[in-house]
Amino acid sequence: MIHEILPVGRLQCNCSVIGDESSREAIVVDPGDDIDDVLALIRKHNLQLKQIVVTHAHIDHVGGAMKLRAATGAPILLNQNDYALLKMMDIQAAWIGVAPPEKIEIDQNVGQSDRVQAGGLIADVLHTPGHSEGSICLYFPAEQKLIAGDTLFAGSIGRTDLPGGSFDKIIRSLHEKILALPDETVVVPGHGPLTTIAEEREHNPFLQKQ
Ligand SMILES: [Zn+2]
Repeated sequence: MIHEILPVGRLQCNCSVIGDESSREAIVVDPGDDIDDVLALIRKHNLQLKQIVVTHAHIDHVGGAMKLRAATGAPILLNQNDYALLKMMDIQAAWIGVAPPEKIEIDQNVGQSDRVQAGGLIADVLHTPGHSEGSICLYFPAEQKLIAGDTLFAGSIGRTDLPGGSFDKIIRSLHEKILALPDETVVVPGHGPLTTIAEEREHNPFLQKQ
C-alpha cells in the first residue's frame, strides 16, 4: 500500500493519498486544501485517482474536493447525513477566516457497510456519527489501518459543539465501531500524529470505562 499523509490548509487536516502498488489505482481522503501538492503526490507515485472520500463535510476536510475532481475526474463520496453541512460552507469559511470554496457537488453517498475500492485495496466504511451526523471512518482490514477523520485523535476525540455534533453519539460510535477494531490497527486521525487502537484503548481519557 502506498500511503502519503499530507497536512493541508490552515487547520492542517491530514489528507491521505492511498495507492495500490500493482494497479496504481488510488483513493484520496479529505482533500481540504493545497490540491496542487496532492496532485504532485499522485504524479510522484504514478497513480490514477479513482475515488475522493470525504470523512465529513467540514471545510478543512472538503474545501479542495471540487478542484481535485476537476483535475482527475474522480467522484466525490460523502455520507448523506452531512449534506446539510455542505450548504453551510459560507458560514464554515467565516469560522476559520478563509474564502468559501465553489459549490461542492457529491457524486455518491457512502454509509455503514459500504466498501471503497482502488485496485486490490479495499476499505470498509464505518458510519461514526458524533463529530457530525455524517462522519465516517475508512478501515482497511488487510492493512489494519483506520482513517479516522475527526472522530478519534491521539489522546482525544472530535469536538461535538458544532452543528450536527453530539457527545453521546461520538462516544457510542467510538465504543461500538472503533474500539471493536484490532489493537494493532494504525489510526490516522484527521489532525495531528498517528496512533493505534491499543494506545487509545488504554490511554485516551474519553475511552475509559465509566
Ligand atoms: Zn471536523
